[in-house]
Amino acid sequence: MSHPALQSVKGMNDILPDEAQLWLWFEDTVRGLLESYGYRNIRMPLVEPTGLFKRAIGEVTDIVEKEMYSFEDSLNGDHLTLRPEGTASCVRAVIQHNLLYNSAQRLYYSGPMFRHERPQKGRYRQFHQVGVEALGYADPEIDAEQILMCARLWKKLGIREVSLQLNTLGDAAARKTHREKLIAYLEQYADLLDEDATRRLHANPLRILDSKNPAMQELINGAPKLMDEMNEDALLHFEAVQSILKQHGVAYEINPRLVRGLDYYNRTVFEWVTTRLGAQGTICAGGRYDGLVEQIGGKPAAACGFAMGIERLLALMVEDGAVQPESPLDAYLVHQGEIADGMAGMVAEQLRDAGLRIALHCGGGSFKSQMKKADGSGAKVAVIIGDDEAQSGQATLKPLRDGGEQSRVAQAELAQNIYKLIRKE
Ligand code: ATP
Ligand code: MG
Repeated sequence: MSHPALQSVKGMNDILPDEAQLWLWFEDTVRGLLESYGYRNIRMPLVEPTGLFKRAIGEVTDIVEKEMYSFEDSLNGDHLTLRPEGTASCVRAVIQHNLLYNSAQRLYYSGPMFRHERPQKGRYRQFHQVGVEALGYADPEIDAEQILMCARLWKKLGIREVSLQLNTLGDAAARKTHREKLIAYLEQYADLLDEDATRRLHANPLRILDSKNPAMQELINGAPKLMDEMNEDALLHFEAVQSILKQHGVAYEINPRLVRGLDYYNRTVFEWVTTRLGAQGTICAGGRYDGLVEQIGGKPAAACGFAMGIERLLALMVEDGAVQPESPLDAYLVHQGEIADGMAGMVAEQLRDAGLRIALHCGGGSFKSQMKKADGSGAKVAVIIGDDEAQSGQATLKPLRDGGEQSRVAQAELAQNIYKLIRKE
């Protein structure tokens, strides 16, 4: 009896070995870069109590209203959610383990996030982010540091033509006054509001300014500006961030309509955008969230962070012909004949002892078919042991990439000769 083939869940992708090479290279590069700024890795569970995200992200947000994978644990009735983003979990972990007790923390994490969205290019239901959070830092230097880190990363990854959009959301008092003025303004034009805007009018009016509905643009353009309510401290903070960016030659554009989709942001917010991924043009987004630690139950602590979408970044890297990662193999070991077969595994282990990456041919077959496998493996060199070689304690080396000469060497000098060959390229 045959069964229908099982498929992955819609919007959740396998990352196959060819593509995974690029992921590994990306992850190594990011890790090296973040560590060069003193950020340390933290790993949180993929599942959290649903209440955490409701409280951190805000009830009237796209994520909490319609994108979360929430379920009841049928074994004990707990309400759980697959994490849609990392900041809430990270802050929860920092509070739970008292990490801010006597020092501020520069942290980063990386992994899958889950949002029930309509799958399309650059938008998936399981996607991956690198998240960066600095907790316990109030000064504008940290906002700027994180933006500089991004700029340096794009360079390292070979990504071109991304631009930086910057805004400030001010502090709680300014937002409150602005919110009241905004509601009063929008209420006057209630009949012009679309469905989303009507629903958000009293719960999250700032989000209405973020609407992409062309019919509402005129209304949005005439709305009261948050900038007009800003207090002096918030303005000075914003100016300081900008002057550091200028000092380092990082170009930016101020976008007063950049508000971010999550409730927890205040002061600096930023997005790195490209026009080359269609509607999914934001590759990295973040900002300051000074109120969140307290909101989740910790002692008040200022904080700033951002997250980048790995799928979108990799799509850009591929487009820009960014550095191609190397093959993970140095040599492929071909062997044939009774003595050779018996000795090949030992030779492979010796080469690994010498630090080389070796695939040992497995499954027999003709010399010709084994050489085909060697070619397809991505290895730079084939090591060939037939009974001839085996009897004389030697091996044949055949370069696979640039058509160099074949040579025969003593097994004791094999590693050193492979190193010579692969360095030449
Ligand atoms: P968008 O406006 O594209 O929905 P967002 O504001 O919801 O993005 P954030 O919550 O700020 O996104 O997440 C940070 C980054 O994660 C985004 O800039 C994007 O690169 C990536 N991202 C967000 N949602 C998805 C998704 N469903 N699939 C792939 N990447 C995503
Ligand atoms: Mg979204």
